[in-house]
Amino acid sequence: MSYAVTPPPISALPILGSNQLFPIHRAFCVGRNYAAHAAEMGNVVDREAPFYFLKSPQHVAFANGKDPVPVPPRTDNYHHEIELVAALAKGGSGISIDTALDHIFGYAVGLDMTRRDLQQDSKDKRRSWDTGKDFEFSGLCSALCQPGAGARPDQGAISLHVNGDLRQSGNLADQVWSLAEIIADLSTLYTLMPGDLIFTGTPAGVGPVVAGDALVGTIEGIGTLEVRLI
Ligand code: MN
Repeated sequence: MSYAVTPPPISALPILGSNQLFPIHRAFCVGRNYAAHAAEMGNVVDREAPFYFLKSPQHVAFANGKDPVPVPPRTDNYHHEIELVAALAKGGSGISIDTALDHIFGYAVGLDMTRRDLQQDSKDKRRSWDTGKDFEFSGLCSALCQPGAGARPDQGAISLHVNGDLRQSGNLADQVWSLAEIIADLSTLYTLMPGDLIFTGTPAGVGPVVAGDALVGTIEGIGTLEVRLI
């Protein structure tokens, strides 16, 4: 059988030191995983349970530092959120915290780009966040690095500079939910699959960016992500 319309290309990320690509199955995102960011958004973090939203795999892009990334339409408050991204090599359901990190393929530096005005309007109206969070180029990632090269999900400086000014600065050790806890919890909601990505939440300091801005995100031991907006 042939397809009635052209199927979408597989969204994929490059892998440092490899000529293979990592195909993206889904992109899960964790909300409010650093207490200081939750506070700046007017929320108190609860340890009851982490919460999630998703980005379409087609909306996640490798940011190679050369090709500019377009600012999306219909926003006057387009925000950066620098995040550790984990990529899964193995899936499963009911994954234990103890074995969760065995499922990791690698890590990337990511940006959860957000139309904050649309997200806020959705919150106010108790509607879904989709138009605020899931749009073309809303998930930007560096190349993946594989564990063993000094990459750790639980410790390390994470920062974002915009036009040379430090905007976000934190440490992975300050995450409310560890990556192992997130994988274990997500695996009670979904059957996780190879190719799944997890955006693990952002530290404090989110703010607006506009066309012409240059963003540089860094996570200690994992890499650097460079984005120029048009
Ligand atoms: Mn986020």
